[in-house]
Amino acid sequence: MAIAITQKELAERIDSAYGLLEQCRICPRECGVNRQQDDRLGFCSSGLNAKVASVSPHFGEEPPLTGTKGSGTVFFANCSLRCLYCQNYPISQLGNGVERTPGELACQMIWLQEQGCHNLNLVTPTHFMPQILKALFVAREREFRLPVVWNSSGYESQESLRLLEGIVDIYLPDMRYSDDRYAMKYSLASKYAEVNRAAVKEMYRQVGDLVVDEDGIALHGLIVRHLVLPEDLSGTEDVMGFLSRRVSKKVHVSLMAQYFPSYRAAEHPELARKVTAKEFGEAHRIMERYGLENGWVQEHDG
Ligand code: SF4
Repeated sequence: MAIAITQKELAERIDSAYGLLEQCRICPRECGVNRQQDDRLGFCSSGLNAKVASVSPHFGEEPPLTGTKGSGTVFFANCSLRCLYCQNYPISQLGNGVERTPGELACQMIWLQEQGCHNLNLVTPTHFMPQILKALFVAREREFRLPVVWNSSGYESQESLRLLEGIVDIYLPDMRYSDDRYAMKYSLASKYAEVNRAAVKEMYRQVGDLVVDEDGIALHGLIVRHLVLPEDLSGTEDVMGFLSRRVSKKVHVSLMAQYFPSYRAAEHPELARKVTAKEFGEAHRIMERYGLENGWVQEHDG
C-alpha cells in the first residue's frame, strides 16, 4: 500500500523538508548553503529544483521490483557521494539532466503509473528529498498510488529519513564500505560506515522485512545492496556481520558482482579491474556463513 500518511500530514512533512534546504542539511554533509534561494555551491551542486536524468520502466532491478511490467525509475542527476568508479558518472557527477518543478516531476510519476509499472523507483533521490515529497503530494491529488522505492547510496541523515516514514514503502540502500578510510578515499564520504549503518537500522525500523504479494511483487520492506569491490575494499565480512546481528537474519540482501572500472577508477590500481570469481565466491560464502539466506546473488561472468 503506497503512502500511509494523509495529505495534511504530507504537507507538514513538506514544510519541514523545505526548512532543511534553507541552510542545507538534507544529507549528512550539512553544507549549510541556501538551496531555498537556489544556491548550488553545496557538495551535490543541486539547487531548488530537482534535476532528472531519465524516466522509464526498468527491467534490471531485483525480481520483486521488476516483476513483469518493470520498475518505474526516475533517475536523479547529481549525488551526495562522489565515487570515483561510478558507472553513472555523467549523471551523478557531471550533472547531466533536466531541471523539473515538483509539478513536472509529478507528471512523470503519473506517466510511470500509466505505463503499468509496479512501483515508483527513485534512484539517487537523497539530495532532492523535499522536492520529491512535494511532487508526491501533487501526484496523489491525481490518484497516484504506486509503492515508493527509495533507491539510495545509504548515506542519509536521520532527520531526513524520519520525514520519509509512512511515505517510502521499500528502502533499497547500498552498503558500500565498512572502512571509513576507503569511503573517504573512493567516495569522499566521512563517517560512512556509522552513518550508513544508522540509516539502514532506521529504514528497517520503518518498513521491516520484505513483504511481497501473491505474484511476488514487493509491497514493502528493506532490500540491502552490497557491491563487491576488488581486494575486499567493500568490507563484506563486516557488512554481513552487521546485518545478521544488528538488523535481521531475514533481511533481503542483493549481492552484486557487476563492478567494472569506470570513470577515474584506472587512477587506482586496486580498482582498475573487475572482481574475480574467487573474490565474489568468498563474498557469497560470507553471506551464507552469517545465515543471510534471503535475497539475490548476481551471476559472476567469468
Ligand atoms: S543535499 Fe547537497 S547541499 Fe545539501 S547537505 Fe547534502 S550535499 Fe550538501
